[in-house]
Amino acid sequence: MGDKLAPTILVVEDEPAQMELLAYNLQREGYNVVRAENGEDALLLAAETGPDLMLLDWMLPNISGIEVCRQIKRKKATSHIPIIMLTARGEEDDKVRGLDIGADDYIVKPYSVNELMARVRVTLRRSRPGSVTRELRHGDIVVDTVKHKVVRGDKKIKLGPTEYRLLLTLIEHPGRVWSREQLLDRIWGSDIFVETRTVDVHVGRLRKALDIPGSDDPLRTVRGFGYALE
Ligand code: CA
Repeated sequence: MGDKLAPTILVVEDEPAQMELLAYNLQREGYNVVRAENGEDALLLAAETGPDLMLLDWMLPNISGIEVCRQIKRKKATSHIPIIMLTARGEEDDKVRGLDIGADDYIVKPYSVNELMARVRVTLRRSRPGSVTRELRHGDIVVDTVKHKVVRGDKKIKLGPTEYRLLLTLIEHPGRVWSREQLLDRIWGSDIFVETRTVDVHVGRLRKALDIPGSDDPLRTVRGFGYALE
């Protein structure tokens, strides 16, 4: 298991050798890798794990890469996930179609690993500013991602490690509504069994810690679904 705060990348590739190459290089760069060998698994895992980025092979059995991309971009819960499509050389029309249906970038096979990693970094800089930026701000809340310190206004906020991860996740995507399952997966990892109401407990603690006189409650509860930082 990698660092839970590191960006998570969902790799969708049906050829085992290609998958190994991608997973090896991404993990070496410090990313968490989630693997899907087909479109069906890709759609499930995208919704379940809320990855920071998807690398999506064009040619997949059954559901094609383009159909996976279309479905990811159509659903509210997954439409924010950036997608880099992996296409075979010469399929110029495919590239255009891919960008038309909402893919954020594409790279042509056989690709150079260095080029792919550079594209991944650029895309993540947009989707996970906390992985490349030291300070994150939202209103009067400031998170120092190096020292793991939080300030609201001029008050230091003391947070436990779980509340800190929760705030970091929320502040990286202000306004985005996270389901309890997505927060569980992001903060505790999918390999640990934690009940969804545990999320509510920690959100309650975070809310209390951020509560300073004269300030609004920045955490919005979306009934029956999850939470957002507003
Ligand atoms: Ca393939």
